[in-house]
Amino acid sequence: MKRRDTLKILASLPMIGWAQTQNGFAATNDKPAIKKARNLILISADGMGACQWQAPGIIRKSPLSVFGMEHCCLVDTLPLNKINGDAPSHCTALGSGVATNSGFVGLDPNGKPVKNLMEYAKEWGMARGIVSANSLVEGSIVPFVAHVRNRMMVEPITAAYVEDEFDVVLGAGKNYFTHKVTMDAPQTGVACEDDSTANLSPRQDGRNLIDELKQKGYAIEEGMDNIMRSNAKRLFGFSAPMTLPNLMQGRTEDVFVNLTEKALELLGAHSNGFMLMIGDMYVDRASHDGNLDLLCKEALNLDQVVRLALDFAKKDGNTLVVVVGTPEASGMTLTHGNPSEGKVEAKWNEPGMIHTGIMVPCFAQGPGAEHFKGSVCNHELFPILMKALEK
Ligand SMILES: [Zn+2]
Repeated sequence: MKRRDTLKILASLPMIGWAQTQNGFAATNDKPAIKKARNLILISADGMGACQWQAPGIIRKSPLSVFGMEHCCLVDTLPLNKINGDAPSHCTALGSGVATNSGFVGLDPNGKPVKNLMEYAKEWGMARGIVSANSLVEGSIVPFVAHVRNRMMVEPITAAYVEDEFDVVLGAGKNYFTHKVTMDAPQTGVACEDDSTANLSPRQDGRNLIDELKQKGYAIEEGMDNIMRSNAKRLFGFSAPMTLPNLMQGRTEDVFVNLTEKALELLGAHSNGFMLMIGDMYVDRASHDGNLDLLCKEALNLDQVVRLALDFAKKDGNTLVVVVGTPEASGMTLTHGNPSEGKVEAKWNEPGMIHTGIMVPCFAQGPGAEHFKGSVCNHELFPILMKALEK
């Protein structure tokens, strides 16, 4: 299906529609004179409201790269049935245009699969890639991969990676593809103590997805050195067997930056454009833990990735970069400090794994970025993204 055909269908859906009342977005029969994006780099900033972006800039006395992006809007992150949002339902909404229930991954409120941006991109012949700062089964990433009731359903989520046939997938968690790994509690960003598979059972579905990926022609690389050396056209690169630690517990800043650089290098070689989804989860966890030092370190690392994307886009000239928060983590506020001294203190209203219902910023730069303005619901971002990619 061609992009324009898809857009015609989308325009006919009353649930989505093109005319947005809140932000004055143009209707489909209008012909706004905008330049179309060949590539999309979509960066998901898990748990990041305004304060999570602002605090690290105060401490280093220089605002983060996102604040230099030309366009910005506020995004309502609420699922249909709760004030306390979550990355899966939020990313389902912005990635498919369908608002859904709390916790749902790529499903509408009735449990039916909804087509996501990556699936449209596949039909359009675009190259597609995923980069995760941590594992490949994180809640902010999986709505672009799978269609399941919740993000703990690791086996169908990893199996969806095999069906989806992305061009480049880089992140941690190879063991999830070969063994039964339970996810009883949200991951903390602390490395799994035992990376070996010696004590793990085979997957319940009996599949070894690494073997299946190899049969499909993928190069499988493990460890950063091997990933960075690869020039494979189809690549799964695992930065760690399970998860990676946060920056205060051993992970280094270059991991996330290098993974992104490699993905851009490989995807940028495709002539028909690409869609790259990049997810960070470490700021979210630092915010849930009320750890301002860690939060700032992680946010600055994410901002390095944003900088990399913006530099690529500037050089390329046809790339839209969008950086969007997922539901804000734990109600962070900035309470005291002195910006001229690089000092800030923060408090959290809801310590623990709670997301608040406040709106979060979405930053955009590149062709089509001018439509990111005003305030929108998460599902209303989808037609704006689609519009920017229309050929
Ligand atoms: Zn969170």
